[in-house]
Amino acid sequence: MRVSGAWLENENTQAVMALLSDAGYQALAVGGCVRNALLSEPVVDVDIATDALPEIVTNLAENAGLRAVPTGIAHGTVTVVAGGEGFEVTSFRHDEEGYGRHARVAFGADLIQDARRRDFTMNALYARADGTVVDPLGGIEDLRARRLRFVGDAQARITEDYLRILRFFRFHAQYGDPAQGLDAEALAACAAHSAMLETLSAERITAELRKLLAASDPAPAVAAMAQSGVLHHILSGAQPQALPILVHFEDGRAGGWLRRLAVLGGAAPEARLRMTKAEIRHFSHVRDALGAPTPAAALAFLHGGEVAEDIILARAALFETPPPAGWRADIARGVAAEFPLKPKDLMPALTGPALGAALKAAQAQWIAQDFAPDGAALIAWLDKG
Ligand code: ATP
Ligand code: MG
Repeated sequence: MRVSGAWLENENTQAVMALLSDAGYQALAVGGCVRNALLSEPVVDVDIATDALPEIVTNLAENAGLRAVPTGIAHGTVTVVAGGEGFEVTSFRHDEEGYGRHARVAFGADLIQDARRRDFTMNALYARADGTVVDPLGGIEDLRARRLRFVGDAQARITEDYLRILRFFRFHAQYGDPAQGLDAEALAACAAHSAMLETLSAERITAELRKLLAASDPAPAVAAMAQSGVLHHILSGAQPQALPILVHFEDGRAGGWLRRLAVLGGAAPEARLRMTKAEIRHFSHVRDALGAPTPAAALAFLHGGEVAEDIILARAALFETPPPAGWRADIARGVAAEFPLKPKDLMPALTGPALGAALKAAQAQWIAQDFAPDGAALIAWLDKG
């Protein structure tokens, strides 16, 4: 079995691999890049595994004039920068205890040991520089069957790192076969340890949840999370029922993890998750407008097209009613609309707080009239009122 693609064949990847192999070490692409290449899915970043120890990786890179950044030195990871692209180069290792922040790792392991410390068989796939795939644990077969299988005993692997519970659902959402459902034994282990998710950092939870909810159809995985009690331990009070309806109304449009998060509801996810300021703003606009009747065009004028789209779709899902006819055109109209009054149009008759209040009232009137009144009409309306 071989993989190919620009991600592997480009000169930066080849340069980093050659750096190691020219010095007599093994260098293999590993994990998501190999998995995605086998599935013909886009490869985002290339991770490299090697039997060279981290300090050797650093020395080799620096001797070749490449920057080596100790991004995860405790885990044996050095980021080597080639042609402006960063490659996480991680030394073969086996985990003696845990995986997360408190992992104690031993280096000097071989490829098989390195494979055994990975979470799922489909993530324990390696490729040499020429594309030859190395599959020590039968990951290709599981990948072909779109079957997510823990490396080793699910229960034991989960107690080493509780984040694997969430990764189980995340990878199932991304690469599993929804018709097949999830492995019953693994699911039971996830359910049994679900309360431990509350001990994980917001960063790690959010990174997984973001990818899970961005999958083309996360609904079956989220339903399984709800059933096993996992959902509740990440998002207290969240409900999965509206999610499949949302995915239906989305009709294949990409992205939108915040829109999916909004229809799950529950108590203040922005407090439990580590979201960016922009994400919190976007999410709050969506959540706050869900129950209000504000029409699509007005939402688009006030919050922009993306937020308006999320609100309309999320409302449709929660109310189990298709989005209103012409909603896309309405959003385009709202995005393009320009409020016709400028502060100077009302000055010097009005200044200070009175000016602000008048502009605000005029804008509300203009939105309520579907952007129809021009400046003169709004001034007349203000004069009347
Ligand atoms: P993505 O394309 O979403 O980044 P990925 O497979 O690269 O998918 P990462 O989270 O970037 O996933 O992890 C890279 C690799 O490291 C995984 O494929 C897996 O082999 C290993 N790995 C990451 N996190 C864990 C974990 N918590 N337990 C065991 N192995 C892990
Ligand atoms: Mg990755």
